[in-house]
Amino acid sequence: MTLHCGLTFDFDAMSVWLGSYKSRNPSMISRGEFGAIAVPRILDLLKKHDLQATFCVPGHTALAYPDLVRRIDAEGHEIAHHGWVHENPADFSEAEERANLDRGLDALQRAAGVRPRGYRSPSWDFSTRTIGLLLEYGFTYDSSLMGADFTPYYARRDDAFDSLTPYHFGPNVDIVELPVTWLMDDFPHFEFVDNDTFGLSAPSKVQEIWQAEFDYAYENVPGGLYSITMHPQVIGRGHRLMMLERLILSFKQREDVRFTRMIDYADAWRSANPLAQWETSGAPQATNGCGRDTL
Ligand SMILES: [Zn+2]
Repeated sequence: MTLHCGLTFDFDAMSVWLGSYKSRNPSMISRGEFGAIAVPRILDLLKKHDLQATFCVPGHTALAYPDLVRRIDAEGHEIAHHGWVHENPADFSEAEERANLDRGLDALQRAAGVRPRGYRSPSWDFSTRTIGLLLEYGFTYDSSLMGADFTPYYARRDDAFDSLTPYHFGPNVDIVELPVTWLMDDFPHFEFVDNDTFGLSAPSKVQEIWQAEFDYAYENVPGGLYSITMHPQVIGRGHRLMMLERLILSFKQREDVRFTRMIDYADAWRSANPLAQWETSGAPQATNGCGRDTL
C-alpha cells in the first residue's frame, strides 16, 4: 500500500520574529526576509522533481510578498492558513482569535485570491477554542497537533483537563488532524535563535533522522502520511536544500510512494474514514498501522 509524503513549507518570513519572538530588532526581523529569497529556490526544486507541496502562509507574509504567494498558487501548490502574524492563539480572547483568523483569510484572498481549506497554527500553538473555531470556519483539516505520527485522526473539541482529575476526551469533530512533531521540523534542528533554540545541526544528522522515520513509516504504516515541516528561511540555505534533494531522490526510488498536498490527502482520508464510523470516545486510535485506512 502507498506511503504518502507531504512536503510542507511554512513561509513565515518576518511574521515569526514579530509575532512569536515579539522582536522589534530590525536585524532579527530581517532574518525573515531570507525566506523570500529561498521560496523561488524551493519552487524550482519542486518543479524539477515534478512535485506538489503545501505552503502555510501567515496573512502578514501574504501582504508582504503577494507576488510570491501568487506564484506558489499558480504552480499548483496548496496554500494553507497560518495565522495573521504568527501569533499564539492562546494569547488572545475569543473575539481576538476570530479577528486573527479573519485577517489571515482576508490577506490570502487579497494577495492571491485563495480561500484555504487547511490550517496550521503558528508554532503549532492552540487555544482551547481553536478546534471549535476551525470547525465553524469550515476548514477541512488542521496540521498542528501531535497525538499520532503517520496516522491521521479526527480532532476533538472540549477536552477537559487539569492536574487533579482524570483526563476527559471530548467528542471527535469533522476536522481531519494531520499530526506533526518537532522531530520532523527543520527549525529546532537548524535554526539558531538564542540559548533556548540552538540548532545549527549538520544536514547529515537531520537526513539520518528524517530518512529513518520515512523507512519506519514505509514498512509499518501503509496508507499513512509522512510529512516534513520546513521553513524557507531555514531549509533554503544551500547545504540544506541539497539535503532535501537527496531525501526527495531517496523517497522517489521506493515503490508506492506518492507525494501529496496535505489537502488532497485529507480529502481522500476523510472519504475513506467518515466521521460517522469513527469511534467517538476514548483515546486516539492506534497509531501503529493504519488499519481502517483504505488509501
Ligand atoms: Zn510558522
